[in-house]
Amino acid sequence: MEPLTTLPLVEKFAVDERASLPTLKREARLRLIETLTVLFVVIMAVLTLARYASGVPLTKTVLVVEGGYSLVLLGVARLARRSRSLVWPGWLVVLGLLLTILVAAQGAGGINAPILVALPFVPMLAALLLGRRSLPLFLAIAAVMMLGLYGLQQLGWAEIRPLDEQRRSLIQFTVVVSMTLLYGWLGFYCDRQNEQMYDQLSLWANTDGLTGVANRRFFDERFTQEWLRNQRVSRPLSLFVVDIDYFKRYNDTYGHVEGDRCLKAIAQTIANHCRRSGEVVARYGGEEFAVILPNVNLAEAAAIAEGLRLKIEALHSKGNPDVRETVTVSIGFASTVPHEFALRERFIVQADQALYRAKRAGRNQSVGAMVQGGRVNAQ
Ligand code: GH3
Ligand code: MG
Ligand code: MG
Repeated sequence: MEPLTTLPLVEKFAVDERASLPTLKREARLRLIETLTVLFVVIMAVLTLARYASGVPLTKTVLVVEGGYSLVLLGVARLARRSRSLVWPGWLVVLGLLLTILVAAQGAGGINAPILVALPFVPMLAALLLGRRSLPLFLAIAAVMMLGLYGLQQLGWAEIRPLDEQRRSLIQFTVVVSMTLLYGWLGFYCDRQNEQMYDQLSLWANTDGLTGVANRRFFDERFTQEWLRNQRVSRPLSLFVVDIDYFKRYNDTYGHVEGDRCLKAIAQTIANHCRRSGEVVARYGGEEFAVILPNVNLAEAAAIAEGLRLKIEALHSKGNPDVRETVTVSIGFASTVPHEFALRERFIVQADQALYRAKRAGRNQSVGAMVQGGRVNAQ
């Protein structure tokens, strides 16, 4: 998976704000209905042309059914976009397709018709569009329809036109080629769709829903990775713990909705300030954020932390409507060249303790610690 840096997380937040799991699923089914519509109309046109070219008489029934179903599909695709439920469009597509194949088969060779190679496509499609709970019902309907076709033929009620060898092979070739392309396309489509869903879900799984920065889960994962990586290359690693000052009072004064807006504004300020490659901004909990800064030493960390503190302090005076009064943060930071895996938890504790020193010293300041082999040099 592409590593999630802070910036895409913040940017994607704006795009995904209204998205939810049901809308994601709905969009996937809708796209399948729309793409299938175009494909089926094209395939039906190709098959009709192939039949015409090979001199098979085009029965009115087949033409009406195929033309009618193409029109219904186009209408369904349009209506489905506006409809609240995709159940009826799903059934229309699936049953319509089944019926079309059976009617086409009945006119072109009965149960021996080449078009019947399209049949396995329909239950696959039914599973995708109707969901697995509707599948037994669909299979029962399909069985009844096929028995009907068989019965019609056995009772001699249907007029079957047996094809001669040459016509039969041309149609068979066209059908097999179209169906191979269709099955291949469906496999490709489902795989891509799955990948997109997986990407979206992993983004959600790693993002804090309120602020759009990374969540604690992602922080823990990346912190371990960065620790090991910087240990391997003997490079410094810095960590910030940023805590909003007197945030309870802010909530009590303006309410939690305003509190949330302020929290988001601060998260985005941190994300915009710490956006170098590899840097991760995460919500550590409540009104606390953590920032991982690989390849940043103590002096650089001190400068970045101060810059960040000043930027947040200036949010209100710069006219940010989400920040109702001047809000400040205290920042504890620690720097080290990672050298032993077991020490990584202690490193977080050092940054946390630096934060509490900043709080005790009066807040609105940044305090750092250089961690060397477990010893701490407070700055
Ligand atoms: P200090 O300067 O010591 O950090 O004071 P504080 O008031 O910020 O700290 P305290 O731990 O007493 O309170 C943290 C507050 O942060 C409590 C809670 O109202 C607020 N808070 C935590 N998470 C959220 C959130 O998701 N939304 C909002 N609106 N407020 C939150
Ligand atoms: Mg606080
Ligand atoms: Mg706190």
